[in-house]
Amino acid sequence: MPPNDVELSVVVPCYNEEPNLDYLFERLTAVLARLNLEYEIICVNDGSVDNTLKRLIEYHHRNPTIKIVNFSRNFGKEIALSAGIDYTIGAAVVPIDADLQDPPELIEQLLAKWREGYDVVYAVRRSRKGETWFKRLTAGAFYRVISAMTNITIPQDTGDFRLLDRQVVEALKQLPERRRFMKGLFAWVGYQQSAIEYDRDPRYQGNTKWNYWKLWNFALEGITSFSFAPLKIWSYVGLVISLVSFVYASFLVIRTLIFGIDVPGYASIMVAVLFLGGVQMLSLGFIGEYLGRVYDEVKQRPLYLVRDCYGFDRQDNEKKSESR
Ligand code: UDP
Ligand code: MG
Repeated sequence: MPPNDVELSVVVPCYNEEPNLDYLFERLTAVLARLNLEYEIICVNDGSVDNTLKRLIEYHHRNPTIKIVNFSRNFGKEIALSAGIDYTIGAAVVPIDADLQDPPELIEQLLAKWREGYDVVYAVRRSRKGETWFKRLTAGAFYRVISAMTNITIPQDTGDFRLLDRQVVEALKQLPERRRFMKGLFAWVGYQQSAIEYDRDPRYQGNTKWNYWKLWNFALEGITSFSFAPLKIWSYVGLVISLVSFVYASFLVIRTLIFGIDVPGYASIMVAVLFLGGVQMLSLGFIGEYLGRVYDEVKQRPLYLVRDCYGFDRQDNEKKSESR
């Protein structure tokens, strides 16, 4: 790693965040200027279809500490975050959302904890303004399920807003998986972790890109990334069903021997067939979930593709796209 004196790298994944950028940079640069340290702001343009990139480039020209990694298409927030983290050089790294749901002013407190000697300082939401009760309920259920099924502890009500020491960043960069459940990976690496509390604001402008289907898949990602329970459970379900059917079969044999053959039985056969069919399909489905993920990993595709960068040492890239 080349020697550098950047102390803090802020990583901002941006997907169609044009209306938020002005206010974001206004608040962020105000906070960072107050802190009086060398910093860089790395914005990952995750295939935005509005003018996010154009605006980011304008900002980069005005303020060269704002650097841009421009993806070739939309890869999703988790990957944008990983890419941003890959490009950082600061001694501490803070990922933050572009929609100002995570108040930049908090960076000061995160840094203070970091200076006390913690490697990871995460920000826990005290409240979730602007979120429906259903979202809060499902989010709560998700954290309970995942902590019951895995042996990592994902702190509840914690987003990706946190401070990571360079050592933790290097550890994260060693994790090769293509399916990146960042909350889980942050927890998996361990290190000295500490928390501060804050009130999460509603999104400043624009709409969230999350919907319940995406959230469900996100939850599935989290569980399959860190737990084999959905695969293993079928041995036990199968065992219980076999034991029950053995007992029932013995009962039927004895009853038939004593009372003779009893023809009606359509309902019980249907129930057994449908129930077992359902259980088998469910277990196949779970195997499929894992198999698909294994397939994704073995393909070894790059995690993301960068079309061009602005503000890094790889200047040639930048010229290429500006000469057009
Ligand atoms: N984001 C991204 N790629 C995507 C979706 C979102 O880089 O495909 C960014 C988005 O620009 C924002 C952050 O991820 O900075 C959080 O997104 P959002 O506000 O939609 O999520 P929520 O706050 O509802 O979890
Ligand atoms: Mg948001």
